[in-house]
Amino acid sequence: MNSQKICSPGCINFISQISRSFSKSCARESQKKCRLLVIGGGTGGCSTAAKFVRKIGAGNVTLIEPADTHYYQPMWTLVGGGIKSLDDSSRSMKSVIPSGCEWIKDKAVKFDPINNTVTTANGTNVQYEYLIVAMGLQLNYGHVKGLLEALEHDPAVVSNYWDKSLVKTFPALQKLQSGNAIFTFPNTPIKCAGAPQKIMYLADDFWRKNGRRENINISFNTALGVIFGVKKYADRLSEIVKKRNIGVNFNLNLIEVKPESKEAIFAVTNSDKGETKSVKYDFLHVTPPMSSPDALRESTLVDQTGYLNVNKETLQHMEYKNIFGIGDCTNVPTSKTAAAVAAQAGILKTNLSAVIDGKPVQSLYNGYTSCPLVTSYSKCILAEFDFNGQPLETFPVDQGKERRSMFLMKKYFMPFLYWNGMLKGYWNGPGVFRKIMRLGQ
Ligand code: FAD
Repeated sequence: MNSQKICSPGCINFISQISRSFSKSCARESQKKCRLLVIGGGTGGCSTAAKFVRKIGAGNVTLIEPADTHYYQPMWTLVGGGIKSLDDSSRSMKSVIPSGCEWIKDKAVKFDPINNTVTTANGTNVQYEYLIVAMGLQLNYGHVKGLLEALEHDPAVVSNYWDKSLVKTFPALQKLQSGNAIFTFPNTPIKCAGAPQKIMYLADDFWRKNGRRENINISFNTALGVIFGVKKYADRLSEIVKKRNIGVNFNLNLIEVKPESKEAIFAVTNSDKGETKSVKYDFLHVTPPMSSPDALRESTLVDQTGYLNVNKETLQHMEYKNIFGIGDCTNVPTSKTAAAVAAQAGILKTNLSAVIDGKPVQSLYNGYTSCPLVTSYSKCILAEFDFNGQPLETFPVDQGKERRSMFLMKKYFMPFLYWNGMLKGYWNGPGVFRKIMRLGQ
C-alpha cells in the first residue's frame, strides 16, 4: 500500500523525520566490544592480527580497514618497471584478514584512549582492552600544486606510490624517446626511501636496452642532502649514478607541476631567500609528500611530529600502556619498510603478550630495516641496517655489491614469503638466519 494514500503531507514529513532520527541514533549507538582491536589491514595489521588470533583465540580480535584490496607494495617498483603486473601485487582484503578475526570494513576516525574506544566513519564505537595501531602513511599528492591534475591528464607524469598512477609508469617509460626524465624525492619521511631511486635505475636500464639512453637526460632531484641515509650504500649508489651518467641534484623539493608547459617547479631547500627552480620535463616520476593519516594525526596518540608516539624499542605507547604501534605510522626512527614491520611484529607480539599476561615488557627492537635497492633489470643491492645506520646484513657476503642473487630473491622469494609467511604471522625478519649465517653476530 502506498503511504501517500493514508497520510497527509504533514504526516509523511513527521514519519520521515522520526525514521531519520531513528536510523541516525541507531548509527550513533552502534557499539561493539573486543579484546584486541587492530586499526589497519596492511602489512603490520594483518601480520599482528594473525599472531594474536592464535594467542588469544578466534573471536577476540577485531580489525578496522576500509579497503577492499590488500597490496604487496614492495612489488610496485617491479610493476612500474613492467616486470610484474598490478594484479600480481594484490589480493582481496577478505583473503588476507586472518580467519577468526572480525573485519569492520570502515575507517577509524576518532580515538578515545581514556575510554578505550575507537569510532568509525559510520558511527560504530568499538571498545577494546588492547589496541594495535597500524595505519601506514597518507600520500599527500594534493600538497604539490597541479600534481593531481597532472597525474590524471599528463601521461608523462607518473608515480609508483599509488595504484592508480603506478599503472602509467611502464607505458610512459616505453613511450619516451628523448628529453628530460626527472625523478623526485620529497621533504617528508616516506615509505621505502630507496623506491624513488629504484624506478630510476630500472628506467635507465630500460632506455639503454632500447638504444635511447643517449637522447635522455636523467636527473634525481631530492629534497635531501644525501643520496641514501646509510654511508656504505650511499657510497655504492654514488658510484652507480656516476657510472651511468645520472645527474643528482640535492636540496630540491617539488612544489608545483605545470603540465601545460611541462614544467616542474622545485623549492631550493637550502636557500633562505625562498628561491625556486623550474625544470622542463618529458617524463616525471613523483614521490609525494607523506604524513601519518589525518585521523591519527588529529588524535592525542601522536608526538609533536604527528606520528604514533611509541617507545622505539618496545613499541608500547608512551602514555597508554594497552596501546602498541607498528610500521609506517609510528615515530620509530628507522626507515619505513615492510622489512622493518616484519622485525617489529615479533617484538610487538612478545611485548603485548606480556602486558596481556600481566608481565613486564622486555623484548627490544634494534631498528632493523631493509631496502632491496634494485639497480637494473637483473641486479640488486640488499641494504640492511639498524637504528644507528649501521649495516646489519644477513648473508656472509658484501651486500653493498650489486648481485643477481639478491634481485632473484626480491622478484621471486620475497613475495612468496610475504603472502605465505608474513601476513600469516609466521615471519619476524631474518634475525635468526643472520645469527646462524654470521656465526652469532
Ligand atoms: P600499510 O601496509 O600501508 O597499511 C596501512 C593500512 O592502514 C592500509 O591498508 C590502510 O588502508 C589502512 N588505514 C589507513 N587509514 C586508516 C583508517 N583511518 N582506519 C582504518 N584503516 C586505515 N618495503 C620493503 O620492505 N621493501 C621494499 O622493497 C619496499 N618497496 C616499496 C615500494 C613502494 C613503491 C612502496 C609504496 C612501498 C614499498 N615498501 C617496501 C614499503 C612497505 O610497503 C611499507 O613500509 C609497509 O607496507 C608498511 O606497513 P604498514 O602496515 O605500516 O602500512
